[in-house]
Amino acid sequence: MRANTWAGRNKVEVRDVPDPKILNSRDAIVRITSTAICGSDLHLVDGYVPTMQDGDVMGHEFMGEVIEVGSGVSRDRLRVGDRVVVPFPIACGACAACAAELYSCCENTNPNAGIAEKMFGHPVAGIFGYSHLTGGFAGGQAQYARVPFADVGPLKIESDLSDEQVLFLSDILPTGYMGAEMCDIQPSDVVAVWGAGPVGQFAMDSARTVSYTHL
Ligand SMILES: [Zn+2]
Ligand SMILES: [Zn+2]
Repeated sequence: MRANTWAGRNKVEVRDVPDPKILNSRDAIVRITSTAICGSDLHLVDGYVPTMQDGDVMGHEFMGEVIEVGSGVSRDRLRVGDRVVVPFPIACGACAACAAELYSCCENTNPNAGIAEKMFGHPVAGIFGYSHLTGGFAGGQAQYARVPFADVGPLKIESDLSDEQVLFLSDILPTGYMGAEMCDIQPSDVVAVWGAGPVGQFAMDSARTVSYTHL
């Protein structure tokens, strides 16, 4: 398959890489239909986040069609042909953090959690396409991706919403929403957001429903 790979500091290259395969019974393979570039990819490209290796497949925001599922994934949960958005953290669904719905803190999916702890001050879950300190998982700026614990994270899209309308559920929208929630923003508050990612506008109505417009 073709994939966008890290090729050294400030250099990325689209290359031929091996197709992903089912490695564990709870894996799925997703044929990617849409993927995004994140502001935090800049930290990989410019070398701020260490442990990237030449040829690492980038991308932690992607969605697509399930084309293969491992024997351990319940067909009630996920089956071939399902359309899914894949969240960026990989979560086992069974540890104490996952039980508390703190999926980005999953204690089982990042074999290099100790290195992440040195960098961030705390361990993190495995993350797609985000260096070896988050597990070295191949990312989604590619034609296909292996999704571990596919019965936990992937969000099935069972409507006719377009890729562009749901892709941001992989990171951008929930991350921004969480930030807004942590700020306890109230209706009529005016807030400014500084960032290096896509430009958009959040608004909250009197029922505290938050909407997002991509500008
Ligand atoms: Zn992101
Ligand atoms: Zn977990």
